[in-house]
Amino acid sequence: MEKMNNNLEKAQSILKNVFGYDAFRPLQAECIDTVLQKRDALLIMPTGGGKSLCYQIPALMFNGLTVVVSPLIALMKDQVSQMKSLGLEAEVLNSSISFEEYDMNKLLIRSGQTKLLFMAPETLMKPDILEMLSSTGVDCLTIDEAHCISEWGHDFRPEYRRLKEIRERFPRAVCLAMTATATPRVREDIVANLDLTKARQFVASFNRTNLFYEIIPKSQPLLQTLDFLKRFRNQSGIIYCFSRRQVDELTDDLNSHGFKALAYHAGLTDETRHRNQEAFIRDDAQIMVATIAFGMGINKPNVRFVVHYDLPKNLESYYQETGRAGRDGIPAHCLLLFGYGDIAKIRYFIDQKTDEQEQRVAQRHLEAMVHYAESGVCRRIPLITYFGESYTQPECGLCDNCLNPREQTFDMTLATKKFLACVSRTGQRFGATHLIDVLRGSQQQRVFQNGHQDLDVYGLGKEFTVKQWKFLVRQFLQKRLLDKEEEFGVLKLNSNSLEILNNKEMVQGYPPPVETTMSGGGTDRTTASRYSPERYDQGLFEVLRRKRKELADKKNVPPYVIFPDKSLIEMSAVLPQTKEELSKIFGVGAKKLETYGDVFVQLIKAYADQTREKAQR
Ligand code: ADP
Ligand code: ZN
Repeated sequence: MEKMNNNLEKAQSILKNVFGYDAFRPLQAECIDTVLQKRDALLIMPTGGGKSLCYQIPALMFNGLTVVVSPLIALMKDQVSQMKSLGLEAEVLNSSISFEEYDMNKLLIRSGQTKLLFMAPETLMKPDILEMLSSTGVDCLTIDEAHCISEWGHDFRPEYRRLKEIRERFPRAVCLAMTATATPRVREDIVANLDLTKARQFVASFNRTNLFYEIIPKSQPLLQTLDFLKRFRNQSGIIYCFSRRQVDELTDDLNSHGFKALAYHAGLTDETRHRNQEAFIRDDAQIMVATIAFGMGINKPNVRFVVHYDLPKNLESYYQETGRAGRDGIPAHCLLLFGYGDIAKIRYFIDQKTDEQEQRVAQRHLEAMVHYAESGVCRRIPLITYFGESYTQPECGLCDNCLNPREQTFDMTLATKKFLACVSRTGQRFGATHLIDVLRGSQQQRVFQNGHQDLDVYGLGKEFTVKQWKFLVRQFLQKRLLDKEEEFGVLKLNSNSLEILNNKEMVQGYPPPVETTMSGGGTDRTTASRYSPERYDQGLFEVLRRKRKELADKKNVPPYVIFPDKSLIEMSAVLPQTKEELSKIFGVGAKKLETYGDVFVQLIKAYADQTREKAQR
């Protein structure tokens, strides 16, 4: 075993005694150690990786204050409640609190009692705040959501640019910048703008090992969704839709089927959005149906599923949105309903863009997304490679393709030849849509205008539907059996095409999707149970969950502030019947043991006695 220094030993004991966790996650120990040595650090870790602990533990060990800068004002109060529930002295200063509270908090900070202070950057820049901080002494400046400093990120905040000045004002404070945005460009911007050239960089893996990825052909989305939801009774989840109208419709449909679902999109008033978000976070509503407007800064750890009702615009969005599932590390399921109609919808929006460069980029992103959805390899390979990491395992065992491998067993030589012949006979001047029309013997005007009804290839490919042909064409392009001109999508022959037309090559590929009315297929019911958490007493879990909700409502905090799901699951598996036993459960630190220990031990005992009696009768 590696020898630990004093700092780390202390950090380890805080991890166990305050947070109730047994071990550090990857990079946490290294990052905490660096911060404690007062060396600057940049931490890049996916959502749910455990970034917060990297400033929380040092904050408890420093004499002075730890300032946490974040743009997410709405989240700060919950973060503070969470800290307080662990017995940490944390406060917030922002526009969401009353004047009285604001002054009160300033007093607390001045007294030196506060260890952690959450602030928006604009608050931090205020002269009275700067003066207050100078007199109290700051040991650590944590910059959360550090990508906001970069114009290349998805959430640029000009105020973040001024944080460098703050660093100069507090030279004794170590700087810890953190983000879940992985692109190198953003990373460089953070380093340059915060003057972090000497900082140690910690980059965690972006593989979310507890997420199950599944993509099924979209046929009857509502029925498919209802079918999927059967597996998640009483469990929180998000359903992403393309448009506001779709969100409203689906919300109504789900409610009429007995689900408690709420809507979230930019067309709702601030107040409604806030109310709905709050209800979701507090487990008052099970499902959030939303556009992409929802999610930034959602800290809810127990989101058990994310459904993409429509195709996301690009892989980055898909990764970010699915990433909101399973922050607590417990298995969670990501389902994408993949319909070819959605491609056209997104294309339509891309076509509306006026900037050509932007249009091309969006086009390429969409193609990558479609390629991903159609791919037969482990879902993790393209996803993780996209973020510049390499995924070396051949399969993950936790995605649809690994569990039900699709193989390139379809002999598409004949289809390829027909298509290439059609390209050739029409003079290499057309895109896929027209070529498919010709092959399927369509009556489209454009076919007759060009006299293509007289070609020998006219009507030669009726065995496939338009969708199936499109699926095949995408494979032709992926295999580079054809070239595509960027601008109008004209398809042209290349040297590979000639090889095939000359009978030299056989072409194998994925079989085109069969068009059914009701899929239900693809979703293997056993996979869900196989990856559900270890066996535990569901009855007890319900009892504990209800108690947690009651306590949370009384304190006006989200339930996860009391205990995360994982703690309740462990309790329902182990049935601890003394406080001593309870203290060994995941997430039960000293403060929580003191506050909730008796209540939970009593509940568990009563439940155990009851089941024993039942068994004896
Ligand atoms: P991030 O900010 O990177 O998205 P969080 O800091 O919110 O992630 O952590 C995600 C979840 O993981 C939280 O519920 C947190 O308490 C938990 N967590 C963090 N570190 C550990 C650990 N070492 N062991 C167990 N759980 C942890
Ligand atoms: Zn896989």
